[in-house]
Amino acid sequence: MARFSSRIITKNIRNAVLYLCKSLGLFWVSRIITKRSLRILCYHGFSQRDEHLFRPGLFISPRLFMRRLDKIEAYGFHILPLADAADQLTRGALKPNSLVITIDDGFYNVHKIAYPILARRGIPATLFVTSYYVKHNGPIFRIALQYLFWKTHHGHFRLPKFHPNYPAVIKTKGILGRHDMWRLIDYGESILNEKGRRELLRSVADALEIDLDGITKERLFDLLKANEIREMAANRVDIQLHTHRHRMPEEKQNIREEIDKNREFLEPIVGYNMEHFCYPSGVCSEERWPTLRECGIKTACTCEGGLNTPRTETLALKRILDMQNVSPLEFEAELTGFMELLRSALRMLTGRNSTSVPYPAPIETGSWIEKNALSRKTARGTSIVGIGEGKGKPGKVKAI
Ligand SMILES: [Zn+2]
Repeated sequence: MARFSSRIITKNIRNAVLYLCKSLGLFWVSRIITKRSLRILCYHGFSQRDEHLFRPGLFISPRLFMRRLDKIEAYGFHILPLADAADQLTRGALKPNSLVITIDDGFYNVHKIAYPILARRGIPATLFVTSYYVKHNGPIFRIALQYLFWKTHHGHFRLPKFHPNYPAVIKTKGILGRHDMWRLIDYGESILNEKGRRELLRSVADALEIDLDGITKERLFDLLKANEIREMAANRVDIQLHTHRHRMPEEKQNIREEIDKNREFLEPIVGYNMEHFCYPSGVCSEERWPTLRECGIKTACTCEGGLNTPRTETLALKRILDMQNVSPLEFEAELTGFMELLRSALRMLTGRNSTSVPYPAPIETGSWIEKNALSRKTARGTSIVGIGEGKGKPGKVKAI
């Protein structure tokens, strides 16, 4: 609670300082200074119900998204597709005040919420789609499970017919609840197959008395279907690559496999060659660039905050991460380039290559796969895999 209060105070102080800076005309000056830099906005999901309250770093409400677009249009930004912007940027021919809108992952709500809003305004966007859950329709296990824990009023529950090594009573709130929840997620992702994960999700929802059918019917945590991708691709939404299982391995062969599978699935749907990429969960490193180039990738977007100039590496494009918990002033400070100039000044003063100070946008984005999938091991050494390549059934579990 104390940490939560201090976060609110810090945010209020930051907003007060930004208000003062804007009043002094610094936003206006910043926009002129940075007008030749490319702004790339980054979004993820768009809430249909209360998802923006559940994960404000991942989902944004339609109302706030429209306000953002109002602000962008009021500033007179020139909005263009990523491919055009990147090409102009590298040739030094970028129009002043250019801006790109990117959306990561390919949630169904992009088609339901964002696409009609963008279409009404004639705004192009680039959508990076991860394909596993497009192929295997259904809610993304780890996000849906987290939502059940967040949504319930029950402090604990029991799972019937669960394997013997798991605690009989599972807590849902506080640190212990978080611990139990992640153990369940690890279990589902490392041991179960997709059918097993669905069954587990059903058991948890029933135990917590939450209407999973409603969540499934509204596709709150589903990705797009092929026909929806096709429709958007034909209407100013540029579909691009985001790996098959939303993970960014280190080994060359595994990177190739993720991109090849992603491409093999998406290209027949959209009908064009895909050359633009977005690092899942922002996992970007220079060592991966040669492999990306071999895969025919021309640009790659990161989750690193900032603006882009002709000197920016095209395989490490910076973005402005916009989300529900970014205040209107914080958004405006990023949009005008004020924060970029502030970050540059801080870098010069401290000698550190900081991109998150003093505006720490929480990189919750995409943690639904990568956070655990690559780096962690279970207690007994079972590797955690990505979105859904688990093996076996609950009855075959040896250890968690
Ligand atoms: Zn992602």
